[in-house]
Amino acid sequence: MRILVIEDNATNRYLATFLLEHAGHEILQATSGPEGIRMAIQSQPDLILLDIQLPVMDGYAVARALREDPATSRVPIVGVTSFAMVGDRERVLASGCEGYIEKPIDPHTFVRTVEQYLGAEPNQPGSQP
Ligand code: MN
Repeated sequence: MRILVIEDNATNRYLATFLLEHAGHEILQATSGPEGIRMAIQSQPDLILLDIQLPVMDGYAVARALREDPATSRVPIVGVTSFAMVGDRERVLASGCEGYIEKPIDPHTFVRTVEQYLGAEPNQPGSQP
């Protein structure tokens, strides 16, 4: 499957790409929200892995923009975040992501977790309880 990784941190981008390519997926990379949105519209990935802590335009805003654009509104999004405070998971899901992965990335479970969301039905912003 084709997976778009939107991540500003080179180490995390490399690790996610390495693990997913090893599992046979085609990976596209973006280092900022606006670049990621542009690439998502152009390349129609099967899934988007979205870092939440991005400069300028954070992952919540990116997820909302992807959900609002008809070209990307049905692509599953998995948010990746490093601070797991109470309410973070809910906030990620409320922004339109289908799923949520905590950093640091666990190499033993990462691919399996991401693959669970391939083909997932799109979540709508604000639809989570
Ligand atoms: Mn980041």
